[in-house]
Amino acid sequence: TIYLDHQATTPVDPAVVEAMNFAATHCYANPSSPHAAGIRAFREVERARGAVARLIGAGRSEIYFTSGATEGNNLAIKGVAARTGGPRHVVTTAVEHKSVLDTCRSLREAGHEVTVLPVDGEGRIDPGRVAAALRPDTALVSVMLANNEISTVQPVAEIGAITGAAGVPLHCDATQGVGSLPVDVRTLGVDLLTFSGHKIYGPKGVGVLYVSNRLSDRAPLAPLLHGGGQERGLRAGTLNTAAVIGLGAAVGVLAAGRQEEAVRLAGLRGRFLTELAHRVPYTLNSGTGPGFLPHAVNLSFPDVDAQQLLLEVADLAVSTGSACNSSAQEPSHVLRAIGLPPERIRGSVRIAFGRFSTEAEAVRAAHVLAAVAGARPPVTA
Ligand code: PLP
Repeated sequence: TIYLDHQATTPVDPAVVEAMNFAATHCYANPSSPHAAGIRAFREVERARGAVARLIGAGRSEIYFTSGATEGNNLAIKGVAARTGGPRHVVTTAVEHKSVLDTCRSLREAGHEVTVLPVDGEGRIDPGRVAAALRPDTALVSVMLANNEISTVQPVAEIGAITGAAGVPLHCDATQGVGSLPVDVRTLGVDLLTFSGHKIYGPKGVGVLYVSNRLSDRAPLAPLLHGGGQERGLRAGTLNTAAVIGLGAAVGVLAAGRQEEAVRLAGLRGRFLTELAHRVPYTLNSGTGPGFLPHAVNLSFPDVDAQQLLLEVADLAVSTGSACNSSAQEPSHVLRAIGLPPERIRGSVRIAFGRFSTEAEAVRAAHVLAAVAGARPPVTA
């Protein structure tokens, strides 16, 4: 298999496997236990917490481990809405991941008001629209760092300046961005930030929620889970120690080479697109310049049903739209939000290069896709 679906998930880095092996073997004690074995596990967990904090410019006491970005997004959004008491107003965008949009929908059902802001043709939110949407009862703004289908990087720092001046907490789902972009919570002006282990070559089922002390000190978030009071009462349940330690290792590898890797991956993507362009017509649904993630591209082949196409290139792991969505047959809400017509959406394929991708794979992938896309009979409506 040529694996080019790194926006769905990433393979686990060998350094992470090694750290998790070590953790499972030597850090099996409960990190909350006061005996020596517990303290050993606790120290490794705290080392991981320190690595995560350094990666995003946060304090260690501002990092909470979760089961992933879905839980983090739920906890951030519901946790802020619930602490305010009574119905409030939340602002988000039309291109967020479902774990944000559906969480906001659940708030609406619970009596809160939600404003879902539209985006432009590139999928970008206008900070002016955020400013105009703010109200005296706005409890939270939630804007992603980078989109998981079309790679658009949002002007989060500009939005953070606006929400900061208005005294409204800003949440950022950084799941897709943190692997490629420098993230500093103070520069971004965010009070809450989430990401996931499995998009940065770490394990699945573990993630991070950053909550600024400034926000927690004013009023703590309401937890989703009640129990043993772990993670300073915000996320009860014994930590998945091996996964947390693996995440710490993943963060270490990421921090060491993110910038050079972004340049390398942009090069692979460029080579892939050039090879493809020589062989078959396609239209880009995402940008490839600044303002977009460097390693991914979303494109449509004319008169092609991408779902069918993917069945014919089974050895090539790419996706149509969002993999987190792919069991639902409805067209991508992101591609609709940027105004693509149904036939463009039907022909859309998402390709994302990663740490172990090679130039030979980029070339081969282009040849395989072109052979299949070029050979297909036109779709009849
Ligand atoms: N947010 C974004 C932008 C994503 O791409 C994903 C990926 O699936 C998630 C949230 C959910 O992350 P997780 O799989 O860790 O729950």
